[in-house]
Amino acid sequence: MYTYDTNNIFAKILRGEIPSQFIYETEHSVAFRDINPQAPEHVLVIPRGPYVNYDHFADAASADEIVDFTRAVAAVSRQMGVSPDAGQGYRLIANSGQHSHQEVPHLHVHILAGRPLGPMLTRV
Ligand code: 5GP
Repeated sequence: MYTYDTNNIFAKILRGEIPSQFIYETEHSVAFRDINPQAPEHVLVIPRGPYVNYDHFADAASADEIVDFTRAVAAVSRQMGVSPDAGQGYRLIANSGQHSHQEVPHLHVHILAGRPLGPMLTRV
């Protein structure tokens, strides 16, 4: 059971209540720069629909939304010039749930790029 908080920050961005410049948008997805970049290039891609996390999206989104979002991530990476074919590649992160340290409860994929990003995680 997923409960979507309509007051989360990305819902407010989608409604235009918090200013954010979309660098890419489609019928079902938008992309904008992270306010606190963790790499030289750090862009967030989100679906327009009210999905809390990856699992919610996978379970409840329409096939059109899923295709649109999946392709949007690759299109944004191409637009950023970092796609593995044309650039130096990128890392995708989709934090989902408590242990992932997801802060904003609206599905988002981080595209991180612009320098060698090192190991994925520090083993603890
Ligand atoms: P999470 O930890 O949920 O995977 O990542 C949330 C991301 O949203 C963080 O990287 C944070 O910097 C970003 N963020 C939070 N508030 C805003 C905002 O108002 N505008 C933008 N562009 N990014 C935000």
